[in-house]
Amino acid sequence: MKEKRVRTRYAPSPTGSMHIGNLRSALYEYLIAKSQGGDFILRIEDTDQSRLVEGAIEKIYDTLKLAGIQHDEGPDVGGDYGPYVQSQRKDLYLPYALELVEKKQAYYCFCDKERLEELRKSQGHEGVKYDRHCLSLSDEEIKANLEAKVPFVIRQKMPQEGSVTYEDAVFGTITVPCSELEDQILIKSDGFPTYNFANVIDDHLMKITHVVRGSEYVSSTPKYILLYEAFGWDVPVFVHLPLITKEGGRKMSKREGDASFMDLVEKGYLPEAIVNYVALLGWSPRDNREIFSLQELAEAFDISGISKSPSVFDMEKLNWMNREYIRKLDMDSFHAKALPWYEKAGLYETNIDLSKVSKLLIERVEYFEQIPEMVDFLIKMPEDYDLNMFAHKKMKTTVENSVGFLEESLKALEPIEDWNVQTIEQALMDTVQRLGVKNGQILWPVRTAISGKQSTPGGAFEIADLLGKEETLSRMRISLIRLKNL
Ligand code: GLU
Repeated sequence: MKEKRVRTRYAPSPTGSMHIGNLRSALYEYLIAKSQGGDFILRIEDTDQSRLVEGAIEKIYDTLKLAGIQHDEGPDVGGDYGPYVQSQRKDLYLPYALELVEKKQAYYCFCDKERLEELRKSQGHEGVKYDRHCLSLSDEEIKANLEAKVPFVIRQKMPQEGSVTYEDAVFGTITVPCSELEDQILIKSDGFPTYNFANVIDDHLMKITHVVRGSEYVSSTPKYILLYEAFGWDVPVFVHLPLITKEGGRKMSKREGDASFMDLVEKGYLPEAIVNYVALLGWSPRDNREIFSLQELAEAFDISGISKSPSVFDMEKLNWMNREYIRKLDMDSFHAKALPWYEKAGLYETNIDLSKVSKLLIERVEYFEQIPEMVDFLIKMPEDYDLNMFAHKKMKTTVENSVGFLEESLKALEPIEDWNVQTIEQALMDTVQRLGVKNGQILWPVRTAISGKQSTPGGAFEIADLLGKEETLSRMRISLIRLKNL
């Protein structure tokens, strides 16, 4: 028998930004399809009209585009199985629900809000389970209600005994007793299908072979399987993805302000690095490799590498990975990406040679938002930095001996005419020689005196070069005055 062409879909509800979990679903769906030469489809699930957020669809398009996760079919690119927006498919669901009513697998329910509310109260905290009141209506009663235009929903009729078992591609055999399954609503009183119904109809009509989604759907899947079976349709492969937690085990959540893909991009993480990191959040390759382009992921991805246990979103690891990607940028692209951050930092208002700054930063930056803080001292010397910084055990400097070292350095730097890294280095290293001291005894006080910082991109020579002669000497003199006034 010919193997079916693999088709996966990303089916977001346009209710906000794409957070890391959403991005991972989209990515894995894409990779499962692409690793097997299949199609990746985008379907917008907007049946819950009350939760729609304006602009959310655009955010989904922008995110997918920036991440390089390109769909083969979708609302914007078309395809043979459209429309790809559920609200535009509204009319096609009812006939399927009626087919189930016909087959006695679903039934009309005319219970009003008040009755359901009563029921909820009487059931206390046990979870609201519909009591099948309308299942016993006679054909005549149903007909009369429909003629009288009594609002109705259509509910799925669940088996009362036994259990449903399925093989999840990640979690293995899952069994759910039928007693746990509620007669869920398939068509709402506004005529819209519920998510629980629409996802099955659409996945079938769009010939989806692998349904990939978060593990919160593991226990609903039996209801979907019963629907596929009631229609006599092929059941797709279910791939449930492990939870993503923060350190400490808490669930990531948009509401708690956890980063969306776009937030990270705005902070200066590279889309390729985020995608690479997210790919490893719940999937491991056969070897221990960590750096993958999207193309390489598509070649290496394999469902069997998806883990069952929750994955921890580790910011440190993402920072490490982003830095790896940044270091591999060529100088020109790094510089172009850094420019807006230099502007933000205020470096545009100085005469500092920005290309030199980029050369110092490319090896250090983890994400671009760090730049303003890394370079702030270039714009303005911190006036009240802690003078104890001059004391450094390893460098063999103290607050007291730094005065002399600084005075000697100042003397050596003052006569320089052609101010550049080499001449500065020459002058300071000559001083080291002349005084017979350790390099650090000159370089540490100088760097501290001109930066006011314990850690800087570049050392004393580079910083002095960036600042220029006048500014360097003036900072050294001011620091000396402060030290002497102690
Ligand atoms: N619209 C659902 C959501 O955003 C999709 C879940 C699924 O992939 O079926 O959670």
